[in-house]
Amino acid sequence: MALTPLELRPLGNTGLKLSSLGFGASPLGNVFGVVSEADAIATVRQAFNLGINFFDTSPYYGGTLSEKMLGKALKALGVPRNEYIVSTKCGRYKEGFDFSAERVTRSIDESLERLQLDYVDILQCHDIEFGSLDQIVTETIPALLKLKEAGKIKFIGITGLPLGIFSYVLDRVPPGTVDVILSYCHYGINDSTLEDLIPYLKSKGVGIISASPLAMGLLTESGPPEWHPASVELKAACQDAAAYCKEKGKNISKLSLQYSLSNKDISTILVGMNSVKQVDENVAAAVEVATVGKDEKAISEIEEILKPVKNQTWPSGIQQS
Ligand code: NAD
Repeated sequence: MALTPLELRPLGNTGLKLSSLGFGASPLGNVFGVVSEADAIATVRQAFNLGINFFDTSPYYGGTLSEKMLGKALKALGVPRNEYIVSTKCGRYKEGFDFSAERVTRSIDESLERLQLDYVDILQCHDIEFGSLDQIVTETIPALLKLKEAGKIKFIGITGLPLGIFSYVLDRVPPGTVDVILSYCHYGINDSTLEDLIPYLKSKGVGIISASPLAMGLLTESGPPEWHPASVELKAACQDAAAYCKEKGKNISKLSLQYSLSNKDISTILVGMNSVKQVDENVAAAVEVATVGKDEKAISEIEEILKPVKNQTWPSGIQQS
């Protein structure tokens, strides 16, 4: 049990307060290996009991399985709806991308049914670099505003990998329309480029969610899954760093998470978790960083190993930005 509660941080202008560590539910869609229903329920319960109040999913994860599992697990908590914050996404599906007004409007009803909820706190356009950013501005976001009026969603977000997509959209929508951005793999020991965008996002009152502090498995002892898009060089450097940490009796995942959690301008760090053990480890790491601070020495040693690949990313989507 954590002795200190997880820190709560405001999310832009939304009025929501998210736990500094958020629960990424993509593993519940079996994307990092099979997770049983009982394990999914126990993992979500442990996360909630230890102070995690933010749960993120998408119809894309595991071809709707993640939403269904998360819905069952949240229902099993048996607590009032306002005690947890849920985000899901639209526009990306097993079948492909579709950011049309018609599809995203239908999508939320499907998601709410799978999640067994009346509303989601945040609905995010999922990986917009795979669609037309102009369609996002002129068609998708106006459709989401209607869903907001209808009470099916409270806030609107956009997600994706290339950082340029965020300012492209935010510069073209009325202020206050897009409440949140979700960036991934850009605020960790190997890549911290999200930092450059933070002043701009803060000036717009946009909440910042950063996902994948373990770089989708790169910064773990067991390494990334087969499908991981990083270069051979980046994968090798991360595995060297993981091996170095192990040799020193340290855990690279813990250090990576602590690095990401240290920036308080980021409201929440989303980590994919698929077991009670991972929840315990990650909450303990978050509590430790808030009370004792991060292990500066070990982190700078990892930074040194990763220097040749610092800020190396991979292509994503059809946009050039
Ligand atoms: P991640 O970097 O959080 O890595 C997850 C992997 O690390 C999984 O294999 C998990 O089992 C493992 N892990 C977690 N805690 C660990 C620990 N203590 N020790 C060792 N291994 C550990 O990557 P992710 O799951 O892809 O990202 C987190 C969440 O962020 C996702 O579930 C999703 O909700 C969100 N996300 C969204 C987008 C998007 O919208 N485009 C992209 C990426 C992630």
